[in-house]
Amino acid sequence: MITNEALKKIMEDVKKRNPGEPEFHQAVSEVLESLEPVVAKYPEFIEKGVIASVVEPERIIKFRVPWVDDKGVVQVNRGFRIQFNSAIGPYKGGLRFHPSVYEGIIKFLGFEQIFKNSLTGLPIGGGKGGSDFDPKGKSDAEVMRFCQSFMTELAKHIGADTDVPAGDIGVGAREIGYLFGQYKRLRNEYTGVLTGKGLTYGGSLARKEATGYGLCYFTAEMLKDAGDSFEGKTVVVSGSGNVAIYATEKATTLGGKVVAMSDSNGYIYDKNGVDLDAVKAIKEGRRGRIKEYLDVHPEAEYHEGCSGIWTVKCDIALPCATQNEIDEASAKALLANGVKVVAEGANMPSTPEAIRAFQEAGILFGPAKAANAGGVATSALEMSQNSMRYSWTFEEVDAKLHNIMVDIYRNASSAAEEFGMRGNLVAGANIAGFMKVARTMLAYGVC
Ligand code: NDP
Repeated sequence: MITNEALKKIMEDVKKRNPGEPEFHQAVSEVLESLEPVVAKYPEFIEKGVIASVVEPERIIKFRVPWVDDKGVVQVNRGFRIQFNSAIGPYKGGLRFHPSVYEGIIKFLGFEQIFKNSLTGLPIGGGKGGSDFDPKGKSDAEVMRFCQSFMTELAKHIGADTDVPAGDIGVGAREIGYLFGQYKRLRNEYTGVLTGKGLTYGGSLARKEATGYGLCYFTAEMLKDAGDSFEGKTVVVSGSGNVAIYATEKATTLGGKVVAMSDSNGYIYDKNGVDLDAVKAIKEGRRGRIKEYLDVHPEAEYHEGCSGIWTVKCDIALPCATQNEIDEASAKALLANGVKVVAEGANMPSTPEAIRAFQEAGILFGPAKAANAGGVATSALEMSQNSMRYSWTFEEVDAKLHNIMVDIYRNASSAAEEFGMRGNLVAGANIAGFMKVARTMLAYGVC
């Protein structure tokens, strides 16, 4: 709960200015609560308007995306790009294509991105974008026409030194290819305006793996500090998209056994350990459903509904699907089954009540802003390689990613300690991410 009067007033204003956007309110409230000890020590962040400014996007771009489906019918979607904060670098953050997308979702994601990007130690500001378009069930040609229309408007607002979007839910290699191709055609320039690109046109090795791998590097660092490791642990990973697949891959390499994965319909449980090649064939290969896993592994179980995955007994839970997927009841089910570590691969997958339950139980909890920052960090490494017109090997990028994740853990951990909240990585990540942005904003004066 926020107790500082000035922060309370800022929170009230955020609610008034952004009605009907509960995800954004939730994200701001969590950050403001963490900043209480910071403003007690540095009142200038309130007095000079830094916090009031940081909760207000620099720019909101909202546009119509008309496209023609395979039957020749015109469809109209809505596109967004929220350029939230460019204090420490060009806006950077993914594009999400999912029917649940509206302004509040993009705002919450863009806001979180500011602090996450700052935590990486790299020069990137915060932004996010997307559309309520659903790529599921669409043909490649429909997805291409949608992406071309989306980029026709977006191209007016982005650029390699201005705003560099990437993928997120529903935006993978196929969509990035169509978007980049259209940008290049419209602007007649070949610049690193998007990240997550294919390897033949400026993509970085290890970008695909980065968020999932980074999540496991972060988790391994939390475990190491507690004198433990992944070795011999049972792991549950929700989702079966980009983050979930590579989190599963790295958790397994580090000695864990992943026994459950999911999609928005249901989850699989394989007590022998999930066969990741089978999941990749279903999800990356033919864009199928997770229940098809039973076609190759009839000995495994499939359960309808995605929240049931949190009733599977595990030592480590890695939520990698979507926001608010772990509520209080799911958190309690995990705790009752003896979970020792929860680290967030998805953005804001735990509700505030769930986070409180984990913190009260004293388990290790890695918040998304810190734990899933490996994706955007590697996107920034892709930007560096594009600027140099040069590419690093997989091993070089992976080693840099590993170092970045270790540093993020250390910085979040020491910020929590400095402000009297030892072990509270939620507060530590918010504070460490905020300080760099806030000091920079102060340096610029009112702008
Ligand atoms: P993908 O689209 O590749 O995969 C998303 C996965 O989550 C799919 O398995 C999807 O199932 C499932 N899912 C989506 N919506 C829901 C829902 N409402 N309920 C249950 N399951 C759902 O996305 P990513 O893996 O890229 O992203 C996953 C999360 O990680 C998101 O929160 C994203 O913001 C975050 N993230 C991603 C980064 C990246 O580099 N890709 C970087 C940092 C964070 P289905 O196929 O049925 O829709």
